[in-house]
Amino acid sequence: MGNAFNLGKLFGIQLRLHYSWFIIFIFLTLLLVSPHWSSFLWWLTGIITSLLFFASVIAHELAHSLVGRANNIPIKSITLFIFGGVALMTREARSAGAELKMAVAGPACSLAIGGLFGLLWFFNPGLSEPIATMLLWLAYINGALAVFNLIPGFPLDGGRVFRSLLWRFTGNYQRSTRIATRVGQGVGYLFILGGILIIFLRPFGLAWFNGLWLAFIGGFLGNAASASYRQAQWREALQGFTASQVMTSDYPVVPLSITVSQLVQRYIFTSGRGCFLVADEGGVRGILTLHNIKSVPQPNWGVIQVREIMTPIDKLKIAHPDQDALSILEQMDESNISQMPVVSGGGIIGLITRGDLIRLLRTRSELGI
Ligand SMILES: [Zn+2]
Repeated sequence: MGNAFNLGKLFGIQLRLHYSWFIIFIFLTLLLVSPHWSSFLWWLTGIITSLLFFASVIAHELAHSLVGRANNIPIKSITLFIFGGVALMTREARSAGAELKMAVAGPACSLAIGGLFGLLWFFNPGLSEPIATMLLWLAYINGALAVFNLIPGFPLDGGRVFRSLLWRFTGNYQRSTRIATRVGQGVGYLFILGGILIIFLRPFGLAWFNGLWLAFIGGFLGNAASASYRQAQWREALQGFTASQVMTSDYPVVPLSITVSQLVQRYIFTSGRGCFLVADEGGVRGILTLHNIKSVPQPNWGVIQVREIMTPIDKLKIAHPDQDALSILEQMDESNISQMPVVSGGGIIGLITRGDLIRLLRTRSELGI
């Protein structure tokens, strides 16, 4: 999810704007202004309408996020894309009911906003033409946003609703996800097919670019569904393992007082390892990774000691030996960390890195198990 920049925080959730959003912004504004090129008032109306639509999409995503948070699904950030927004969850819903509520919240919010603009338009017949057009547009476009998102292809909201219902019926989360993402791929292909038919046959007076647009959305949907399918497989692959099964126990231990250059020469050159426990006679004091080392400019490697740049033990998130591997990966995502020590009986018995988990997934997928 690169190519996006931060807009700031709202309710503690990071808002990000993807560059593709400018396309929809310009497109919407121009569509509204096009019959009135020379009028300043219409340009203003066009821009205000686009900004209000922008706020509507944020409201849609916030509705998902706040309902999600109320149901114990933490939301890290919201990214606004050309087709709307995507709320990035660090973990999936734990129950079908929570998922259903969270999925429905967005379209319900869009319908409410659309309805509000529609009512404003309906009960104010004396409004000037630009304002009346703006209200009608916002009513229409929010309604369209709700309807589009309710298409039952995962990862659209409708696909999530569909999955939560399957989940409730079958009691099987993984299978429901597989079915919902497959349906999502199917919807994507149908959109592409429909788009191609429109381009060549132009039924109902539709123009070729309507077909292109539909095919484009279909491609986007199909891709998102495939990515969700792969992600579901990963989660399934990790779920059967516990921390003690995936941890490394022969981690290298280095003394507190050596310098970075001593560490690099004595430990990294020979072992190729990228993660170390830092300890003294009293036990483990922290963890050191390549990331910490890279934070020190190379000329200072000879003077900086590892104790100055390590992550101290009290700042670390820890895992328990019987914790499942999936929840560890989720915790790493939530806290933006790449390694966690496994602690038992007050002592560190192993280390889990993000790299270990990814290697496990890769090996399993190569063997097809
Ligand atoms: Zn939504």
